[in-house]
Amino acid sequence: MSYIFEIAVDPDYIHDRDHLRRQIEKRAGRSFADFAVRRRSVDARSRHPKFMLQVELLEEAPDASMIASSILSQFEPVKGEKRIAVIGAGPAGYFAALELIRCGVKPIVCERGRDVLARRKSLKLIQQDGVVDPDSNYCYGEGGAGAYSDGKLYTRSVKRGNVGEILDIFVAHGAVPDIKIDAHPHIGSNRLPRIIERMRETIIGCGGIIRFGARVEDILIENGAAVGVRLQDREKIEADGVILACGHSARGIFRMLCEKKIRIEAKPFAVGVRVEHPQHMIDEMQYHSNKRHPNLPAANYRLSCQINGRGVYSFCMCPGGFIVPTATEPGEIVLNGMSLAGRDAPFANAGMVAEIREEDLAPYGEEGPLAAMAFQADIETRAFDASGEKSQRAPAQRMTDFVEGRVSSTLQKTSYIPGVHSYPLDRLLPASVTEALKGAFTEFGRRKRDYYTEDALLLAVETRTSSPVRIPRIEVTMMHPQVRELYPCGEGAGYAGGIVSAAMDGVRVAGAAAESFGPKD
Ligand SMILES: Cc1cc2nc3c(=O)[nH]c(=O)nc-3n(C[C@H](O)[C@H](O)[C@H](O)COP(=O)(O)OP(=O)(O)OC[C@H]3O[C@@H](n4cnc5c(N)ncnc54)[C@H](O)[C@@H]3O)c2cc1C
Repeated sequence: MSYIFEIAVDPDYIHDRDHLRRQIEKRAGRSFADFAVRRRSVDARSRHPKFMLQVELLEEAPDASMIASSILSQFEPVKGEKRIAVIGAGPAGYFAALELIRCGVKPIVCERGRDVLARRKSLKLIQQDGVVDPDSNYCYGEGGAGAYSDGKLYTRSVKRGNVGEILDIFVAHGAVPDIKIDAHPHIGSNRLPRIIERMRETIIGCGGIIRFGARVEDILIENGAAVGVRLQDREKIEADGVILACGHSARGIFRMLCEKKIRIEAKPFAVGVRVEHPQHMIDEMQYHSNKRHPNLPAANYRLSCQINGRGVYSFCMCPGGFIVPTATEPGEIVLNGMSLAGRDAPFANAGMVAEIREEDLAPYGEEGPLAAMAFQADIETRAFDASGEKSQRAPAQRMTDFVEGRVSSTLQKTSYIPGVHSYPLDRLLPASVTEALKGAFTEFGRRKRDYYTEDALLLAVETRTSSPVRIPRIEVTMMHPQVRELYPCGEGAGYAGGIVSAAMDGVRVAGAAAESFGPKD
């Protein structure tokens, strides 16, 4: 019978296994062969934050290497003839490819960007010279938008799939096992690339094909079914189906679908700014002390409120992280955040975004689902033009100046490498969004005193929080209602938001696609 209970641990002892053992023995009142921590979180309600551990007593010590090898043994060389083209090598695309292999179907992954290590050169080019490669950037390339991110693996979409299975696959490919127990697991941008490389090795080792620099420009359709894709150089790749896992920035794909009269729909999304505080202020706000215990993680926050009936919420908070330029085309500025495994940078950043409604899109020309893209593009281009110097230097304003309607005369230091220039951000965002953000900052300052401060910097713009469109699919078969064997998948299709939920969607869709071929050979 399993024996599980919770203990509170002083941060001094969290890495001291002998101390933990003694504490557990005292609490259990009996001896045991070993123990496993099943869940780890921080309780910061008092002035002395503590770790809360859920521990299980074990009668024998587990063998971690056995668990990893039993997961990897599920991926065997594909013997069947069926093949599916997967558009995109992000979490949705790679987990779909792995699931196809598990089901005996060969994946052919077409990724417009470069492999995960080669991508680093493109990131350096954006950071240092402001040059955006439209095929290889923070959103595009092997690993997708998740590769150079914070690697947060927390999801609320627990009903949509098996989170544990996704984490197991990450661990089997080299992620630290701690991600399976932390309440807010994260991997870090310095560790993710190697894990992604190992996933690629598994896919190729089982007979899957991965093509980099392969931008899909068309989906081939015959007799109402998807039968392959056409690349930018007109090469055709034939397949028995197509999984469309192109991410939320694939405007070319969304336009192509509209031109082919394949239905896509507008979906709610949000835009706003990135907020950056010195990390010590967030630590003080959450841990009630400006000197964080070295064993406590950099503190984070999650905030939301309604202003005039419009939702405003923090998004993708990166404690101890950096703000990065995530544009996918030259001539635009888009921001997001990332952090390394140690989360030890001196800044804390988070998106702060307001919901966009249909009426906000009316002035932006195009109709239907494309209006949202025109809206995003307009804001991003104006953010780029604001400096007048064709660089990735971002418009910025102190939080207090933004709320009180003043141009900032000075700006504080930031983690954003391309730099910032003072600009009134209300000139970039629609009035409805500006008003909602001003109301929200004031409200959050009421709830958490240190949050509303002139030491917080707002950088513009945060426009790609999720896909502005949904590509419909039939719930059981997962196929598009108009095109058989076309499987919309992941964040770009509007079914996921984040690494883990995109990965879970990849698994579900690939399972449904494989099932349409009947039992495994
Ligand atoms: C900087 C940053 C930090 C983030 N931090 C986190 C985090 O900490 N935790 C978290 O859960 N989420 C985070 N996210 C969001 C997360 O990365 C995405 O939700 C997730 O990657 C979506 O997965 P996906 O596979 O659906 O799409 P994507 O990851 O966007 O992958 C889509 C892939 O399709 C490719 N593609 C697009 N068009 C074409 C085409 N025409 N032909 C061929 N290939 C194409 C792209 O190159 C891309 O590689 C972050 C995002 C960014 C940008």
